[in-house]
Amino acid sequence: MKVYNTLSRKKEEFTPLEEGKVSMYVCGPTVYNLIHIGNARPMIVFDTVRRYMEHKGYEVNYVSNFTDVDDKIIRKANEEGTDPSVISERYIAECKKDMEALHVKPATTHPKATCEIDGMIEMIQTLIDRGHAYVAEDGTVYFKTRSFSEYGKLSHKNLDDLRSGERSLLVSGEEQKQDPLDFVLWKPKKEGEPFWKSPWCEGRPGWHIECSVMSKKYLGDEIDIHAGGEDLIFPHHENEIAQSEAANGKPFAKYWMHNGFLNIDNKKMSKSLGNFFTVRDIGEKYDLQVLRFFMLSAHYRSPLNFSAELMEAAKNGLERIATCVSNLNYLSERAQTQELSAREETQLKEAKGFAEKFDEAMDDDFNTADAISAVFELVKFANTCAGEGASAAFVRALKDEILMLTDICGLTVEQKEEMLDEKIELLIQERQEARKAKNFARADEIRELLAGKGIILEDTREGVKWKRE
Ligand code: AMP
Ligand code: ZN
Repeated sequence: MKVYNTLSRKKEEFTPLEEGKVSMYVCGPTVYNLIHIGNARPMIVFDTVRRYMEHKGYEVNYVSNFTDVDDKIIRKANEEGTDPSVISERYIAECKKDMEALHVKPATTHPKATCEIDGMIEMIQTLIDRGHAYVAEDGTVYFKTRSFSEYGKLSHKNLDDLRSGERSLLVSGEEQKQDPLDFVLWKPKKEGEPFWKSPWCEGRPGWHIECSVMSKKYLGDEIDIHAGGEDLIFPHHENEIAQSEAANGKPFAKYWMHNGFLNIDNKKMSKSLGNFFTVRDIGEKYDLQVLRFFMLSAHYRSPLNFSAELMEAAKNGLERIATCVSNLNYLSERAQTQELSAREETQLKEAKGFAEKFDEAMDDDFNTADAISAVFELVKFANTCAGEGASAAFVRALKDEILMLTDICGLTVEQKEEMLDEKIELLIQERQEARKAKNFARADEIRELLAGKGIILEDTREGVKWKRE
């Protein structure tokens, strides 16, 4: 499996630090509003990376934070006359609802910055003790950027280039910096802001330190993958590397993965341009699976353009797969024979080739665009080969292959149709007859078929009873 590493700017063979295990940290959203469709891209993309790794047999420890202390959260709380935690808890809950609708699996851990302040104070103290940070007169703690000689290795900037642009790095209120390149680890409280006690002043952390601390706490000093949108490469991830490596004395993340940006009709999404969409906005028009499918139809590192036409195309594509699965279900229920014919056996071998193609695409830096093409080829193949007269085993194997691949993409393409009571009764009757004729294979098959539809059978003295799950 090859992964493009922003650090080396190359595709590298993926070898985890510990065999069979993957530790992965994905920078999560700042929770002051409903998430927008740009925020949904890293969620969907890295959830798919995770699902594929799990499919390959890795045990994935996936951590994604919520930034719940930030200027924008505080501003909104002041506008509403409430506490910042009310705002952040509200939008964490909303974000989780959106994630569920997008089929993004919950992370193994979803830490919140405000619950990790002690760890942040500890890491900042270590950085001070090791000469990588200093306390200014007003109690602000700054990271001494020049003390970390490898600064710039992720964004491929060197300190001299940064120095020439350093005037723009001077922020008002930060005149006490020893060097314009230094960045804030801890800052003093301001009127109306939440604050915590620290050895330096009552205040709150800078943004970057939270990810270094949460990653260390939940995944260890060294991790396999650190990910986020490409806007985070500089300064956020560059600063995370400086903090973590200076504090821990070890390399931080082995692979750095970044998704490209999502634009709207070829323009940057912004509220002022009026082309800003929340996930909820899109959910009013489409099943959010369509948004997921749309996102996966491009390579994660490419810029992606959102438009109504492309969403329609995604909707049609997804429907094509769902229709094929529904046809296969219909054929399976009507099949006259269970056993594979010799011809079907050969065709199933051919069908496996599409799953191999899918894996090859995913092994090549998670090329979901090509992987989805392989699913379409399989659908076309299934539509051609499976018709009236096909055996149940054949159509089921084709369906299972489609479902396995779409499941890796986090897509559900099988509608659970409710079975009518009469149909259930008929199947139960057929099962009784099969048992009488000692055809236990068929009897078991019917039980399984019903179980798949959420129908539970109970053999009682008065006969067979059934109930829905
Ligand atoms: P934020 O809440 O702004 O920190 O963003 C959370 C995540 O969404 C980060 O990984 C960002 O890089 C990512 N992100 C924000 N906007 C976009 C966009 N338009 N396209 C792709 N990713 C984005
Ligand atoms: Zn982060």
